[in-house]
Amino acid sequence: MPRQRHRVDLGVRQGSLREANLELITRHVFAFGDEDHPVSRARLADETHMTRSTSSRLVDALIEGRILESLPAISVSGRGRPAVPLIPARGSYVGLGMEVGVGLLAARLVDLSGRVLADSLDQLDLTGSDPAKALRHLGVMVKEILDEMAPGQVLVGATLSLPGLVDMSAARLLVAPNLGWTDVDPYPYLEEVLGPEIDFSVGNSANLAARTVAQTRPGHPGPWSSFIYLHGDIGVGAAMMLDGREIVGAHGWAGEIGHMTVDPNGPACRCGSHGCLEQYLGRHHLLLAAGMPPRASIHDLLARVRAGDPLAVEAVRAAGHALGSVLASVVNLLDMPTLVLGGDLAVIGEYLTGPVEQEMRHRLLSDPLAKPLVVLAPATAAPGATGAAYVALDRVIRDPARWLGPGRGTSDLD
Ligand SMILES: [Zn+2]
Repeated sequence: MPRQRHRVDLGVRQGSLREANLELITRHVFAFGDEDHPVSRARLADETHMTRSTSSRLVDALIEGRILESLPAISVSGRGRPAVPLIPARGSYVGLGMEVGVGLLAARLVDLSGRVLADSLDQLDLTGSDPAKALRHLGVMVKEILDEMAPGQVLVGATLSLPGLVDMSAARLLVAPNLGWTDVDPYPYLEEVLGPEIDFSVGNSANLAARTVAQTRPGHPGPWSSFIYLHGDIGVGAAMMLDGREIVGAHGWAGEIGHMTVDPNGPACRCGSHGCLEQYLGRHHLLLAAGMPPRASIHDLLARVRAGDPLAVEAVRAAGHALGSVLASVVNLLDMPTLVLGGDLAVIGEYLTGPVEQEMRHRLLSDPLAKPLVVLAPATAAPGATGAAYVALDRVIRDPARWLGPGRGTSDLD
């Protein structure tokens, strides 16, 4: 077999250097600048190691192209020229996030600054539902929020969050046991309502929701770079981030924590196995164990736990121990320092974390050395839709040159 040659390209094209510098400036302002802590032009040049004139010309192009926004100049006492603060542009480029959950449909428009410009949420139980009906309904919700877009706003892309195994390259859902959907192509149903120009990628809902923890707004790193995110609703999913990068596995299917075994002889699961974590921690099971009707909400359960209802207290306690035993195995295997509980798990989090930590203490080899931090994600509805919009907006942050008009900032080589 011939030896493989590695080609090293040392040539730098004019276009590529300009594009790289535009990306560097954009990433820097998105990572560090917001309305409370805007990045000044002077600081930007220093921290990106560009000359003031180069940095300034590129910033002008990014402001003209509505990727950055300049706030009114502020004077810094005794420090010469006033500082011109920069932030990500508001209300210009927009990402569309769509979500099919087992318990909801959502459509959301988010701008580069992370503001939600329009939102449509429908709480409904889609267990065993008809994909055509659900996706057409989602299409109608999307159409309504797209109609709310202001003139001049640019839709940069769309992502659909799905609660199961997806084939990202073919934009298909392969299997979602709780929905009862197998091998679904969502495109024809959304196209029926939205027309052939609708174009979107797909992603797993736990992975997309985890993005809202990894980034508190587009391009802005969150407090933890290595963590496991768990999302609970009717099902339970997880996503893993190591140093800010997703661990998705060979096929992109990693994170199905809801189908890890708590008890091999436990209750039957919709996936075909027995005693999966979902059968202890999923919403339907929690409500059943608490003696509540299946249509009750997680907030109804929380109210009963707060009131000291013994069945409800015991249901959450038992779920916490089941979760703790599974998380101990995961942390023993992967050495993750932070565990973030989201969705339903965050709502009942104050009563869940105690049993989780107690159970992990017995089972973690590393327990005396380092205790994983168990924290709650902000309790926002449909974080998968927000993460999906972030993925769409990433196209602007990763390659801002593509969204600028031709010729802007082209003379910047240094
Ligand atoms: Zn299962």
